[in-house]
Amino acid sequence: MSTAANTYLDRKLAQACTYTGCAAAPAPGVQLCPKHRRRLNRARKRSQNALRAARRKAGQCAECPTKSSTYYCVRHAIAAKRTRRVAVLNSEDKQSRIAARTIIGVDGRTRYHGQRRTGDLPRAVLDEQSIDECLRLLVMTKQGLAMARAAVGLSKVQLRAALHAALAHGDRAAREFEALALRNGYTQQMLVVDDE
Ligand SMILES: [Zn+2]
Ligand SMILES: [Zn+2]
Repeated sequence: MSTAANTYLDRKLAQACTYTGCAAAPAPGVQLCPKHRRRLNRARKRSQNALRAARRKAGQCAECPTKSSTYYCVRHAIAAKRTRRVAVLNSEDKQSRIAARTIIGVDGRTRYHGQRRTGDLPRAVLDEQSIDECLRLLVMTKQGLAMARAAVGLSKVQLRAALHAALAHGDRAAREFEALALRNGYTQQMLVVDDE
């Protein structure tokens, strides 16, 4: 009979790493210590890679059982799409844009124009990053919708899934914008409809 301290539930209740035989304390809210969490993540990654390779060998999309001659089916090609730069909307060099808006204070620290406290700098930088991320995600949405609609031979269900994969990027853009708005104390205005 195993000792009580070694059973999964007892270890979980005692807030130790749930990996058998490990005495390390996990971070708050997680069940495994950092070492065993890394080990688990590596094992997961390995099994995902093996599954992807097996699907490709069977002539399927790497992410789902849909028959596909390309690495991903349309839906997963859209979902996996990454756009690093927003070339048209964001062609201006970022460094020069930031430089144009910053001054070096008497204490030698960089500050943004119109912001007296150095504490404001992180928010300005965060806002800049949020906008860039929104633009990137919206371009991914636009390209994804176009990819979905240009794809041939999709069933109704497949087309819907492909469109939704594109819209998921837009959803992330909306969340990013919401974070930016909240950071600056902006809450959505009620639309006032005039009856007259
Ligand atoms: Zn552990
Ligand atoms: Zn797929």
